[in-house]
Amino acid sequence: MKNPVFIRARFPRSAHDETLQAQLVARDPLGFLEDEAWWEVYFHEADWEAVAAEFSSSWNLLPPPITPEVKRFDQENWNAQWEASIQPIVVSDRIMIAPSWHEVAETDDRLVLVVDPKMSFGTGYHQTTRLMLRLLENDVRAGDIVLDVGTGTGVLAIAAVRLGAAHAEGVDIDEWSTDNAFENAQKNGVEGSVRFIHGSLEHATGPYDKIYSNITKLDNIDMLTAYRDLLRPEGAMLLSGFYRDDVPEVRTALAKLKLTVTDELYEDEWAALRAVKEL
Ligand code: SAM
Repeated sequence: MKNPVFIRARFPRSAHDETLQAQLVARDPLGFLEDEAWWEVYFHEADWEAVAAEFSSSWNLLPPPITPEVKRFDQENWNAQWEASIQPIVVSDRIMIAPSWHEVAETDDRLVLVVDPKMSFGTGYHQTTRLMLRLLENDVRAGDIVLDVGTGTGVLAIAAVRLGAAHAEGVDIDEWSTDNAFENAQKNGVEGSVRFIHGSLEHATGPYDKIYSNITKLDNIDMLTAYRDLLRPEGAMLLSGFYRDDVPEVRTALAKLKLTVTDELYEDEWAALRAVKEL
């Protein structure tokens, strides 16, 4: 039997996701995948042993205790498992997301965004990313200047440029994300038209034609006034990261700032809205 060399640690979704993911991302995992009910990280075995030694007793003390399901793979099975687990995702009639090892042909009607899943959000596996992209494909115009707040993998900024935006700026409070976003921009050949910055709105100079923001409901609501001020007249914002049930609250916050909702999309329990700043 071959020596096990890679570890897949699968965590059940819980209120502690953010804390645990921050601990793990700091240990430089090989990859990250997520689903509705779980998320999983991949490590070299030696690195995983160090992570488990450092954190597993504190995970056991959480309410409820968190115990990842750990699976070992040898080199050959690891490659097969990792590559097989990441399949191209159909986002819409026009957009697909594919990892770099899957050659998916582009056509005049089909744009393929190359995103290799690492430890950033925005791989196309989550409903909110897909909702944002579906709104974005009808929203972006040639020459647009775009701000992508909470850029993650950079997928929205990259999509905007690939669909004609002149320039996109992505900000993220997670430094790993901005590095990963730049790598993805290079894979899509748009690195000359994007800028990714570690941080948040303090780096946004504006004015922007479009603001794309897939963060939480409360963060979106908190930032709405800033978004309005950063947008040009008749500029538009796309918002997601909240549930269908939250839409009335988000709409009320938009209406208070005289931002007009022009479009809404849903997938499962998730929602996304488009709103414009009137002249
Ligand atoms: N834009 C990608 C997408 O649509 O799939 C990723 C969205 S992910 C749900 C949210 C991202 O926002 C995370 O990478 C997180 O680190 C970042 N984030 C959360 N709050 C933020 C804030 N106030 N300013 C900037 N980034 C933020």
